[in-house]
Amino acid sequence: HYPETREIWSYGSGYGGNALLGKKCLALRIASNMARDDGWMAEHMLILGVESPAGDKHYVAAAFPSACGKTNFAMLVPPQSLSGWKITTIGDDIAWIKPRKDKDGVTRLYAINPEAGFFGVAPGTNDKTNFNAMASLAENTIFTNVALTDDGDVWWEGMGPAPAHAIDWQGNDWTPEIAKEKGTKAAHPNSRFTAPAAQCPCIDDQWQSTEGVPISAFLFGGRRASTVPLVCQTRDWEHGVYAAATLGSETTAAAFGQQGVVRRDPFAMLPFCGYNMADYYSHWLKMGSVTDKPVPIFMVNWFRMNEKGEFAWPGFGDNARVLKWIIERCEGKASGVETTLGWMPNYEDMDWSGTDFSKAEFAGVTSLDKQAWLSELEGVKDWFGKMGDKLPAKLADVRDKFEKEFQAA
Ligand code: GDP
Ligand code: MN
Repeated sequence: HYPETREIWSYGSGYGGNALLGKKCLALRIASNMARDDGWMAEHMLILGVESPAGDKHYVAAAFPSACGKTNFAMLVPPQSLSGWKITTIGDDIAWIKPRKDKDGVTRLYAINPEAGFFGVAPGTNDKTNFNAMASLAENTIFTNVALTDDGDVWWEGMGPAPAHAIDWQGNDWTPEIAKEKGTKAAHPNSRFTAPAAQCPCIDDQWQSTEGVPISAFLFGGRRASTVPLVCQTRDWEHGVYAAATLGSETTAAAFGQQGVVRRDPFAMLPFCGYNMADYYSHWLKMGSVTDKPVPIFMVNWFRMNEKGEFAWPGFGDNARVLKWIIERCEGKASGVETTLGWMPNYEDMDWSGTDFSKAEFAGVTSLDKQAWLSELEGVKDWFGKMGDKLPAKLADVRDKFEKEFQAA
């Protein structure tokens, strides 16, 4: 990447995210440079629309690191009990966000999806986990590194019943027996589908709008087995930027060696920002004042675990319950409780219709542990230390303030 000349040179790019030059290379790495120069933002964010039963429409943009649920959240199917709440998809991976002054004199942030389709992970995708993704890839789709079935169709782990025979992603014969014996996967764990967004049943009618859609809230979240609560509204723009700048995911034993190590992926942009990360934080801090009222920033975590090592939050469609609280917060309707970390819902502030998720379980996914947070803040100190002199002093101040408040709590 040559940001100065806005050039990309590519050869032998095996990883799909790099091979599709219009995606991460242009729409994030080069575009983030253009955005900094010209006063906008190029972000690793999904954009979705939420329509309330009253017919009010909001749009939210959310940054989750890779494999942390963007595609799923962008096209989530709310539980039937949340009847009347409708989710539509603008994009599932990248948002270009620009300030615009509306006719009413108010400047808002508008987001567009610069992509034509979805480039999603295949394994685990099925009619139950992501109905809308399955419908999107029913035809006109390019698959990479999935298994080929004898009738010329595709298959991957977690799609449904296994075929009796297939050609695996490496071109070898594959049967359920071989899989059992040797542990070989039919599809590569990072095998992908490339599907036209227009085929998504819940695509928003504004998905190709070059004007964009006005953003009501930003969400940031990673995979955190503990420490980070289900949802929390940050206190203000600076605190929101701090939360995004310290965003992290916990490694799992299988993938990265040691369990429970937090890898920071600020704004989910570490692999995709085309310039110095600390300068990028400064750009975000600056963007807070281009709107009349800064867009509220929320932290979310769908991945808290219980003592048994199981997910303590049902996730997927049930994330609509969190989204509902967020939208109602933006409208000034939902109440919450002010904690050291920011505003969180009480159990009673969320809609639990159609589920038996209990108050005790809710406590399990929202508890704030003082010791865990003090050690989290130590981790942030190390992380910020790596940023050098360019780290905005404001962010270091937020950290220090939190440390004092947690110590006093
Ligand atoms: P993306 O790379 O950010 O677009 O993430 P995906 O939407 O492709 O999801 C990555 C993985 O996370 C998949 O295995 C999903 O099944 C899983 N996932 C997505 N949302 C949730 C959730 O709410 N809870 C849990 N437990 N897993 C989720
Ligand atoms: Mn995705």
